[in-house]
Amino acid sequence: MELGESSLPRRVTRQVMVGSVPVGGGAPITVQSMTITKTADVEGTLQQIYALAAAGADIVRCTCNEIEAAEGLARIVPRSPVPIVADIHHQYRMALAALEAGVHCLRLNPGNIRKPDHIKAVAQECKDRGIPIRIGVNGGSLDPALYAKYGGKVTPEAMVESAEMELAHFHEVDFDDVKISVKASSVPLMIEAYRLLADTVDHPLHLGVTEAGPPPAGLLKATAGMATLLAEGIGDTIRYSLTADPVEEARAGRQLLEILGLRERKNIDLIACPSCGRAEIDVIGVAKQAMEAFGDREIPLQVAVMGCVVNGPGEARDADIGIAAGNKRGHLFVKGRNVAVVPEDAMVSTLVEWAEFIHEHGVDAAIARVDTAKAAREAEKDRALLLAEKGDDVNHSEQRVELIHKRGDDPR
Ligand code: SF4
Repeated sequence: MELGESSLPRRVTRQVMVGSVPVGGGAPITVQSMTITKTADVEGTLQQIYALAAAGADIVRCTCNEIEAAEGLARIVPRSPVPIVADIHHQYRMALAALEAGVHCLRLNPGNIRKPDHIKAVAQECKDRGIPIRIGVNGGSLDPALYAKYGGKVTPEAMVESAEMELAHFHEVDFDDVKISVKASSVPLMIEAYRLLADTVDHPLHLGVTEAGPPPAGLLKATAGMATLLAEGIGDTIRYSLTADPVEEARAGRQLLEILGLRERKNIDLIACPSCGRAEIDVIGVAKQAMEAFGDREIPLQVAVMGCVVNGPGEARDADIGIAAGNKRGHLFVKGRNVAVVPEDAMVSTLVEWAEFIHEHGVDAAIARVDTAKAAREAEKDRALLLAEKGDDVNHSEQRVELIHKRGDDPR
């Protein structure tokens, strides 16, 4: 798989394989999410795994909290389109059962399984089977001894020490096939913890802001934390922990990596103007309609929705395709060149048709089938009309400035 156009640095790490998906060691950064079904519900869980994979998840985690869940995993794993990680919290026996079920990776929380013998038994079994483990340190469930050691506070140092202690147990059985996370719900804390961890180990890192909450605040928190680290080259696999349909998590993860140029684009990149007094259409509504019309279609183009033909085509000239409104008409442009004029209510459908054509046949073939000179003339006509109607100063700023001057000159 090719990467996007990122010039961001990447921290050098060792690589682990989660089933057929490489994590770390220069592999493309992967997206993870977690099912919220009962793992014992095999059909329901598989349905969700398929939905997550379609939305961009490369790896999916399922809880393995009881024996019925482990039995479910034995049936889910062979039918899953992506590798499965079993989430183990308290019972090391569940880890062994998940391995028996054939999962591709375990996630252990060192704050919850603390008996060294149990930890080593799991690591030994993973080693024998060639299955990696994620050490999932969580600020909210830190080992009480570490919590006390660091003055009753969760600190980056305490979180990293927790991971190191777990690694030390693994090393005793010569097991090192490990990726690590140090998640916290506080964004500054998780950023510092990951930075410290990245300076301490060369294992691949799984990023996340835990319990980020519902969107939009949850999305902002998780993005602030993960994007900051990714921009520094830290992070090999990511998960949005949102209080929302997990499909949103997978989609957000995929989009974040695309936005940063760390994964190649899969779907459209919709850009739209914020609208202003000059807008000739309901930009928010049309942009929403366009998002819905494109849905999850795999058309990796930049598509622009602009509120007016006065500034739209110029401002979005780099978009592969765009539409700008003017005089009850939609002016379609491709790479800044006007190509067609359509009725306002056909703007979105035309945008989709053209995007599909360009994706299949390329920009040149799309332009070759129309009279661009005519489209440009029509656009110029509407542009001139709007300028004549509303002038250059659509927000009446000059008029206001004049009034301010008048008031200022007023001797009263
Ligand atoms: S494209 Fe037109 S409507 Fe949109 S913000 Fe710019 S001037 Fe305003």
